[in-house]
Amino acid sequence: MNGPRDYVYADLTWEEINDAVLAKKVILLPVGSTEQHGPHLPLDSDVVMPTSVCMEAGRRQPDDILVMPSIPYGYNEHALDFPGTTHVHYDHFIEYCLDVVKSVAHAGFGRIVIVNGHGSNEHLCEFIARRATLETEALIASTTWTNLAVEAFERVRESGHGGAAHACELETSTYLYLDPSKVRMDKAVDHYGGAAGVESSRFTAVDISKGWGPVKLVQWTSSSTPNGVSGAATLATREKGEAVFEAAVGNLLAFVVEFKGIEKAERVDHRAVRPKLPPLPSTD
Ligand SMILES: [Zn+2]
Repeated sequence: MNGPRDYVYADLTWEEINDAVLAKKVILLPVGSTEQHGPHLPLDSDVVMPTSVCMEAGRRQPDDILVMPSIPYGYNEHALDFPGTTHVHYDHFIEYCLDVVKSVAHAGFGRIVIVNGHGSNEHLCEFIARRATLETEALIASTTWTNLAVEAFERVRESGHGGAAHACELETSTYLYLDPSKVRMDKAVDHYGGAAGVESSRFTAVDISKGWGPVKLVQWTSSSTPNGVSGAATLATREKGEAVFEAAVGNLLAFVVEFKGIEKAERVDHRAVRPKLPPLPSTD
């Protein structure tokens, strides 16, 4: 028993939450997905990785950070052909996450970062952060944790474009670093193809480190990979995972410091005439 940790939201009491608000702590909300990650990685991969990044950031800078309980389910309709995958409708996902973020804004926190671990949540998290910023007094940012580790991964990767997309060189390496006992490396296989189901295209290629091609095309996961892997899982090593994890934690900490210094500027109404009807529901 180690007692309450001052960077862990769920460990605190309501009075200590008030202290955290007054200390202007930045809220980190890990958001992930419970879904298939090939024959070698556990279903919790997209939850464990962003949560671990956030918890380590909080452990290193507890005066600046409060880590919320993770949201373990995400948008996943395209992957439902693989058992173990759970899917939350995009409307429900947006509204649920928005309610969570608005709750902490209501408590008085002014800076909130959604730290996502599941690629298909990314555009939804961006939308949630935008809406929450417009609909509360807080500033809300979003990131997908792998975006914070691109430079570090590019220095250590061995795969080509498409080697890091899902249950891949990057994700498998990171899980090997965090908890190798959960990784079935003897079952790891490679598959190149990505969400578009096209092995090499300068338009639709997908790589979570090198980025998407200029055209987005997503098929059912089961029609683009036979085993749930998109990338080079067999090239994963614990050392690559450590490099990626450390970079993500370091960059998240740097952003938290920057974020604390960003003011939420006042709105300025430039209209010559104000209509008598009320504004749109989301802006009143
Ligand atoms: Zn993943």
